[in-house]
Amino acid sequence: MSRFDLVVKNGNVVIPKLGVIRADIGIVQEKIAAISREIDEKEAIKMIDASEKYVFPGAVDSHFHIGIFRPMDEDAISESASAAWGGVTTIGSYFRTGKNYLNKSGPYKEIFPEVLENSRESFYTDYVYHISIMTPEQVNEIEMLVKKFGVSTFKYFMFYKMLDLTGAPGSGQYLMINTSYDLGFLYGYMREVARVNKIFKNYGRISLSIHCENPEIIHPATEYMKSHMSGNPLKDYSDARPTFAEKLAIKEAETIAAQTNCPVNILHLSSIDAIESGDEAAQRNPELSILLEATLHHLGLSNDIPYGRLGKVNPPIREKEHVEALWKAVINDDIKTVVSDHACSTKKIKEGDIWTSLAGFGGTELIFPLLLTEGYQKRGLPLHRIAEITSYNSAIYHALYPKKGTIALGSDADLAIIDLNKEKKVSVETLHSAQDFTPFEGIQYKGWPICTILRGKVIFEKDQIVGRPGDGQFIKRPVMYHYREELTL
Ligand SMILES: [Zn+2]
Repeated sequence: MSRFDLVVKNGNVVIPKLGVIRADIGIVQEKIAAISREIDEKEAIKMIDASEKYVFPGAVDSHFHIGIFRPMDEDAISESASAAWGGVTTIGSYFRTGKNYLNKSGPYKEIFPEVLENSRESFYTDYVYHISIMTPEQVNEIEMLVKKFGVSTFKYFMFYKMLDLTGAPGSGQYLMINTSYDLGFLYGYMREVARVNKIFKNYGRISLSIHCENPEIIHPATEYMKSHMSGNPLKDYSDARPTFAEKLAIKEAETIAAQTNCPVNILHLSSIDAIESGDEAAQRNPELSILLEATLHHLGLSNDIPYGRLGKVNPPIREKEHVEALWKAVINDDIKTVVSDHACSTKKIKEGDIWTSLAGFGGTELIFPLLLTEGYQKRGLPLHRIAEITSYNSAIYHALYPKKGTIALGSDADLAIIDLNKEKKVSVETLHSAQDFTPFEGIQYKGWPICTILRGKVIFEKDQIVGRPGDGQFIKRPVMYHYREELTL
């Protein structure tokens, strides 16, 4: 008699905080129901042979921008498919009111249902939303967003801090607001996140993610660089947003976070300055459990690549010394999550020069290949640490654990089966995204996912997507609050 809906047999199972074990995994009704030395084939309705392969918990790519430049449903379909190819089973996407995304502003109680409606039949992977609070009225919606909509992470952009009303990005016009978006606003915002975090303290972390770059420095530095261009636009762009502007913003954020007791996530560190100030902030405030995050592009690219505006992203791609410092911080476990910051764009969307082009591009599908090649193969980063960086830590810090983030009894059966010996060169075709370029073009990576399983259902195998849009579900967080009964076996 069949006891399991699916059995993944003979794999090397990579378990966060534990290591690699040879085991069979039995799945019943979307959950992991057995991890055993040997499960008899006869007990399985369906069997996948993972001999000589490595079975990781599906990646939680917790920094994503579905719908930033393209219609949300369309973007979710193509970009979550690209994620599924990459062994990602949960996407954490940012959303804010204002220009881009849905081009509207107002209360989230009206706008967020629209976001969910656009998402409902569009994701191949599970997904969550992090919400950017832009107005004092929206600050008052934070508790409701956690309780009713299951949103446990919020966001603030230090570099949109309103300085003037010229109409440039960062202005009220772009953000579609007419109230202050300054440190005073951030103070009130953090106080409220801290208050709500206290309410949910037994269920998971309610936190504020912060894009740390100081606009008062960027503004004059950009003006200077526009008249002192070197011939390498990506280097000029990096100099226009100097690394000390990251450091300054991190220090401002840390000061207010410590004052208000607000748990914070410092997003996409790009430089030695950012790492140093992020480390200091984390060490000085252990009670805030500050998360330091890095992206694939800051770990995989330096600003000598010939991509010009197509490689434009905030914070910018830096020189090689910064890339090495980021790897050191990942290996030391100072940087705890590595994410794609995936924002699907096209050459057309990124029209203009280095100063006028929109910032951001995608790379979610490279999360395992890049970490396995640059981390495991080149720098000796152990496989179980890669499972922590891609899945476990993201799940813990974003209140998804233990539903997501590990391979354990009762957890969702989200798995990425990886062939550590598979080698492939990155190209636009390799990435299966709607993006018509990639700054990673031509890089050879070793270690690619060959099968992705979402809650017990195969969504990618044999070089094709076999799931469908709509397989992915919106996950309410903290999961310990929203799925209390479900989490018991
Ligand atoms: Zn981002």
